[in-house]
Amino acid sequence: MASVELRNVRKAYASLEVIHDISLAIEDGQFIALVGPSGCGKSTLLRMIAGLEEISSGEIAIDGMVVNNLTPRERNVAMVFQSYALYPHMTVAENMGFNLKLSGFPKADIESRVNEAARMLDLTALLGRKPAQLSGGQRQRVAMGRAIVRDPAIFLFDEPLSNLDAKLRVQMRSEIKTLHQKVKTTSIYVTHDQIEAMTLADKIVVLNQGKVEQTGTPLQLYKRPANLFVAAFIGSPA
Ligand code: ADP
Ligand code: MG
Repeated sequence: MASVELRNVRKAYASLEVIHDISLAIEDGQFIALVGPSGCGKSTLLRMIAGLEEISSGEIAIDGMVVNNLTPRERNVAMVFQSYALYPHMTVAENMGFNLKLSGFPKADIESRVNEAARMLDLTALLGRKPAQLSGGQRQRVAMGRAIVRDPAIFLFDEPLSNLDAKLRVQMRSEIKTLHQKVKTTSIYVTHDQIEAMTLADKIVVLNQGKVEQTGTPLQLYKRPANLFVAAFIGSPA
C-alpha cells in the first residue's frame, strides 16, 4: 500500500498542454475514481503516475518519495487496461505468473502467488484453461490476477470494464469493490461512467480539460457540486 501525491503536475505534447498544474493527495489504501469526459487527460495522468509517460513539470511522490525518475517497475504499480491482451497459447495460471517469471521469481513463489490471487478472484477452477475457453468477465479477472500477483503498492485502472456488456460491467464492478475491501491496495480508477465512480470510490476527482474541477466523496459531489460542469457530470439535481 502507498500514498500518492501529485504536486503541480503539468504535461504538454509539443505545444499542446493537456494537464494543467494538477495537485492531488491520495491516502494509503484509498480508492480514487478519476472521472471526466473523453480527452480530458485521464489516461495521460494515470500513465504519468505509472511512469509510462514523462511529466513536463512538477513532482509525483509515492509514499513521500519523489518517483519522477523511477521506472514503472521501480514504482511498484500495476496497471489494468480495457484491452487486457492475454497470451492465447498460455493457460490462465501461466498468464498470471508470466511477469513474475520474467522478473526471476522462484517457481514455488510464483505458484503460491498465482494460487492466492486465483482464490481471491474465484479463478481456481480455471487455472488450466486457455483464454479462448473463458468468458469476457473471466478474462478480465485473469487480467486483474496478473496485476495482483505482483502485490503492487498501487493499482491503476484505465476504464477496465468499458469493453464489457452492461450486465457484466455491474457484476465486475462489485467484484472490484470486494477485491479492494480484501486487499486494501491504494487504487486509482479511471472511468467516464459516473455510476461506477459513485459506487466504487472513497473519493472522486472530476477532471475537465486537464484541470481538476472538484475533489470529494461521492456524497459531497452529489450534494454540493462546485459548478455546473460537476453537477451535470455527476447527475446531481443542482
Ligand atoms: P482521456 O483518457 O481522458 O480520454 P487522454 O489522456 O487520452 O484523455 O488525452 C488527453 C489529451 O491529450 C487529448 O487531447 C489527446 O488527444 C492528447 N494526447 C494523448 N496522448 C497524446 C500523444 N501521445 N501525443 C499527442 N497528444 C496526445
Ligand atoms: Mg483514456
